Amino acid sequence: MRRLVAVSNRVSSLRAAPLAGGLAVALADALRENRGLWFGWSGKTVDVANDEPHVSREGEVTSATVDLTQEDHDAYYSGFANRCLWPLFHFRLDLTGYDRAHYEAYKRVNLRFAQSLLPLLEQDDLVWVHDYHLFPIGRELRKLGAKQRLGFFLHIPFPPRELLTTLPQHLSLVKALFEYDLVGFQIEDDVKRLAAYVEQDLGGKVGHGWMEAFGKRLRIQAFPVGIDTARFHDFGFSTHGEREYQRMREFLRDRDQIIGVDRLDYSKGLVRRMNAYELLLDRHPESHGRVTYLQVAPISRGEVTAYRDFRRELEQHAASMNGRFGRVDWVPVRYVNEAIPRRRLAGLYRASRIGLVTPMRDGMNLVAKEYVAAQDEADPGVLILSRFAGAAQEMRDALLVNPYDTEEVATALETARTMAVDERRRRHQSLMRGLLENDVAQWSRRFLEALTTE
Ligand code: UDP
Repeated sequence: MRRLVAVSNRVSSLRAAPLAGGLAVALADALRENRGLWFGWSGKTVDVANDEPHVSREGEVTSATVDLTQEDHDAYYSGFANRCLWPLFHFRLDLTGYDRAHYEAYKRVNLRFAQSLLPLLEQDDLVWVHDYHLFPIGRELRKLGAKQRLGFFLHIPFPPRELLTTLPQHLSLVKALFEYDLVGFQIEDDVKRLAAYVEQDLGGKVGHGWMEAFGKRLRIQAFPVGIDTARFHDFGFSTHGEREYQRMREFLRDRDQIIGVDRLDYSKGLVRRMNAYELLLDRHPESHGRVTYLQVAPISRGEVTAYRDFRRELEQHAASMNGRFGRVDWVPVRYVNEAIPRRRLAGLYRASRIGLVTPMRDGMNLVAKEYVAAQDEADPGVLILSRFAGAAQEMRDALLVNPYDTEEVATALETARTMAVDERRRRHQSLMRGLLENDVAQWSRRFLEALTTE
């Protein structure tokens, strides 16, 4: 069996992976099966960075990490990755910062990572690079002479060419993709958006599963990422999950809970989501006291200004709704910044009648999948899901909504609140079937199989 080398911005502890979510779970399992090596940033910033990686072993899996200087971290990670690529790739030109010094740092850190990784590679390794922090690492590895098969997976959406071309370095970024043997995107629409760019801006050629430009041929395909469905379902009924579930049910009594769980990020549509809930309360006075909304929103990227501004707006909104509708015995919105471990989250999802997942744009959205996986099949809750989340392509039996259309979301909330158990079961069964068929193990198996095949 060939060794798998996973490369991502952050390396998590394998023991903590099932609690850390999506990518960590996917990688930890794949790495265990393939005697893997996981390479990336240690999460530490230091005064003087050393290129020699820290190597440690956990069972069959080796981790190799490097530190970053504070300056590189600020410019590469907070700067180019999160002030420029993240908003641009989530269609938010208004929040995108274009800073050449940040791009230089991004290239510099990718080169450093490549230099540190190269001596660790063995001839037959399969190298799998993850996400927008690391577009250029494949090119840097090639320049240093790496002959291994290199794959790249983008976890976030790929933007339309009209937006991408506002980035001064768009050409260089896309060219970097053509150094990989295989590129995976979340959904077919992402592949189509790159195809339009390749044809119209590069004069390249596009076929089924391939693109040609820069004198190179790239294999590219959608591989929608899944969750650890069976394990997550069990979490909801495990000791932790059950305790959380019981505690929540006692607190709620016969109230129906709507749950939102999102990193505090402007792409998640939290302000509009609250507007939709407010509209529900406006239109349906009979729901007062009978429904309650819990928004779990752990703080993320607090060092980036756009995140701070938006956080303030959200806090004011939650407070004003509680002031307007609240009663001494009923709080309409509970808004918490606490990060909750996945095992407990499973119990919370299970105790919630409605999962409200309304990002304005999202690569996949794993919370949508987790919410469904955690339900009790005899009395399942209803998922309301944005059409602009990658997950909407597979999860056709959710109540799909346009998150910009507050009225549609409010109507979906009322439909979900009053949906009969038969329909809830039918939708849940069909969604669950999809989640079991395309779980995270299938996802990594499919990607790695494609990467191994010539
Ligand atoms: N998550 C968590 N605790 C929290 C909030 C979120 O463990 O308090 C996890 C959640 O269970 C999911 C992941 O973080 O696995 C979020 O993934 P998603 O694709 O929904 O969004 P992203 O944060 O990657 O944009």
